[in-house]
Amino acid sequence: MFETKCPRCMDTEIKKFRTYIIKNGQERTIFQCNQCGTNFSETCNTALAGLRSPIPLIVMVLLSITEGTGINAATRIFNVSKNSIYRWQKRLGDLKDTLMLFALAHQFLQQVIEGDELYTKIDKNHPQEQSAGWTIVLMDRASRFIWDMQCGRKNRKMFKKAIGRLSKVLDQTEDLTLLTDGERRYGNFLFEICSEVVKTGKRGRPRKTLPKGVKVRIKNKGSQSHKRGRKRQKYQAPKPEHPETTQDIENKEIHANHLEAFNASLRRRCAAYRRRTNTYAKKENRLQERLDLIWIFHNFSKIHFTTRRVPAVALGIMKQGIQVESLFCIQKIG
Ligand SMILES: [Zn+2]
Repeated sequence: MFETKCPRCMDTEIKKFRTYIIKNGQERTIFQCNQCGTNFSETCNTALAGLRSPIPLIVMVLLSITEGTGINAATRIFNVSKNSIYRWQKRLGDLKDTLMLFALAHQFLQQVIEGDELYTKIDKNHPQEQSAGWTIVLMDRASRFIWDMQCGRKNRKMFKKAIGRLSKVLDQTEDLTLLTDGERRYGNFLFEICSEVVKTGKRGRPRKTLPKGVKVRIKNKGSQSHKRGRKRQKYQAPKPEHPETTQDIENKEIHANHLEAFNASLRRRCAAYRRRTNTYAKKENRLQERLDLIWIFHNFSKIHFTTRRVPAVALGIMKQGIQVESLFCIQKIG
């Protein structure tokens, strides 16, 4: 699936050329490309290139900091420097784009995507509105595959970016429903980015709708109105939908919320998201690097607690999850 390619001509016709021993005694292979003759190390363009620490140690450290151990605690437990941890985190996290491209090379029949935001402090106590600690999470409900997990300020740009990324998923999906609780901007931007003009043949201004197969539902918060009379509708479709879109999503389906469970697990796993503590992320880029790492482990390596499957496997894009150790051997694209 992630075959070793020649870094020069991208050909996969390669052969073992020789091996070498690195400082800690491990053996590494030099490959030679059959096409262009280039020699390259097996670590070329991988997260491992130039790293001298043993992989088992790196794996252990990265797993602990994505399972709730704070960075300072990790330095003491494993006797490694903060900078090393940050370097490893960044190295492996950089694989995100490659894995995303891989995921987006597939076609999907149906996806129900939940969108939600959660919040952590970054640096000191800024007002929530100005904080860069908001994190948008977009997750496919059935597989628990997370399509997007980006932190930043909760503003127009943030939602627009998230929806921009979602529109790439949409291009690969026949039938996509976006469920959000309360935040209207998802629907607005989705409409802005990908609405289509429906040709009805009638005179007058043509109607714009979401693309065929795309639905947006906003869950009403505090759905139980105490006023007498008619119950409020439990959800809204904020944007006009294509006349040929199948309307088959039910109320109870909309109200099941799987992201809440994920958010709870993120608060447990990433020390920066824990409530009522002084542990908070110091820098936005570091928080994003951690999120990228969690994104990779969650989607590609870890078996989900509820579905008992690795999300990428449940999504149908691979037969089995990728061992964390093997992630280090995947060549980055670009
Ligand atoms: Zn080559």
